[in-house]
Amino acid sequence: MRVGIGRDIHRLAAGHRLVVGGVTLDSPVGAVAHSDGDVLLHAIIDAMLGAAGLGDIGDHFSDTDPRHKGANSRGLLRQAAALIGKQGFRVTQIDATVMLERPKLGPAKRTMCETIAAELGLAPEQVNVKAKTNEGLGEIGRGEAIGAEAVAIVVEDV
Ligand code: MG
Repeated sequence: MRVGIGRDIHRLAAGHRLVVGGVTLDSPVGAVAHSDGDVLLHAIIDAMLGAAGLGDIGDHFSDTDPRHKGANSRGLLRQAAALIGKQGFRVTQIDATVMLERPKLGPAKRTMCETIAAELGLAPEQVNVKAKTNEGLGEIGRGEAIGAEAVAIVVEDV
């Protein structure tokens, strides 16, 4: 069994979509990014790659590559799972926290778990998504950014 950790942060601005865990949220601001700016999936991808000893998301999916412009991060998540599969591992558990002042993620957390689990071929119970505000502190607290942290456990796929 191996463990990996991941984190990500994106600026928020008007005129962008807010996509978190593959779910598009109703929000006046969204993530500024080369891809769809899904901080949660990016943190999870880094955690999975880290667990398998495969570097980080930037090593595999360059943020200057025009092929990844506006990329659906669900596709990147599937590609990351395939990469770690080639390395002889499979994911068995994901735990993650999204840091966002508003909107409240509430019921969307469950949909995020189901979406992530479906992409990874896991049961929803193997994926956990938590949400926290930053208590009004710093850039996240001011509503200028969204952040995420994730941990992944992978096992040898025998
Ligand atoms: Mg990112």
